Amino acid sequence: MTSNEQPIFYSGFVTVIGSPNVGKSTLMNQILGQKVAAVSPRPQTTRRKQLGILTLDQAQVIFVDTPGIHQPKHKLGEFMNQEALATLADADVILWIVDSSIRPTDEDKLCARYLGALKNAPPVFLVINKIDKLPESEYQIRASSYLPLYPNAKIFYISATQGTGVEELLQSILESLPIGPKYYDEDQITNLYEREIAADLIREAGLLHLKEEVPHGLAVEIEEYKEREDSGAYIAATLHVEKESHKGIVIGKGGQMLKMIGSTAREEIEKMSGRKVYLELHVKVSKNWRDSQEAIRRFGYSREE
Ligand code: GDP
Ligand code: MG
Repeated sequence: MTSNEQPIFYSGFVTVIGSPNVGKSTLMNQILGQKVAAVSPRPQTTRRKQLGILTLDQAQVIFVDTPGIHQPKHKLGEFMNQEALATLADADVILWIVDSSIRPTDEDKLCARYLGALKNAPPVFLVINKIDKLPESEYQIRASSYLPLYPNAKIFYISATQGTGVEELLQSILESLPIGPKYYDEDQITNLYEREIAADLIREAGLLHLKEEVPHGLAVEIEEYKEREDSGAYIAATLHVEKESHKGIVIGKGGQMLKMIGSTAREEIEKMSGRKVYLELHVKVSKNWRDSQEAIRRFGYSREE
């Protein structure tokens, strides 16, 4: 290469799919090294399509973490499936994540059916996760219960929590990328996604403190996200709940619960953004929001406008 030649740059989109709770967000966080996707011991914390962007000297990988594919139970469920499907068709590589510690579920089978339905499918990597839970002699046995569901996949064994096999997986992803531009520069990434990430972190803090009480009927809407010169960010958000009784629980006695959620969320957002955050939370009853198309749009679950 002569001195005035530009090195070749590679870029592309990697769609991450899999049943709820298999470790999609954990893997993305492991690769990206920061808290981009909310991780939770409960399924379905990640409800929106999220981007995670890895920029290296000669490549940029844009990870799209889809909400888990599952059998729709209400309108939001239906919508999430469409969302997941649309991003599959656009991918340069698909990571199909499964949990090696359990046998394939109906949801895993549904994922495989979606993959099988794609015309001109991009390369599919079957990522066998949570191998830290298994003796090595069982890896192949577990893989052989998943691979027949989509035999064209290339197999990787990883532990997303421990990082085992993640470097090799990333290497193969990089080798599968087409030549392409740097789609996003670092500043843009921060501005575009912090707001969304903040909403997810607030929701995650809610799930953490509320335990079983107000499970999936909790949505977070960011009302304001303003930079304050030199002193960090000001964020105002509304927590939408489905029932009047839930509102009381979320606020708690003397506002204690809301305060706790706010303080956990603020710490996490500060970690994510690396600067001070002023966080103001409100609670509002939005009856049956999960079945309302209008509410689904308003809370940011729609495809890009
Ligand atoms: P998602 O719903 O697919 O995004 O799953 P999450 O990333 O939120 O992970 C769900 C749960 O599985 C969390 O409690 C994780 O800590 C756990 N988990 C994820 N990856 C691993 C792994 O490699 N090993 C083990 N033992 N647990 C994992
Ligand atoms: Mg997730």
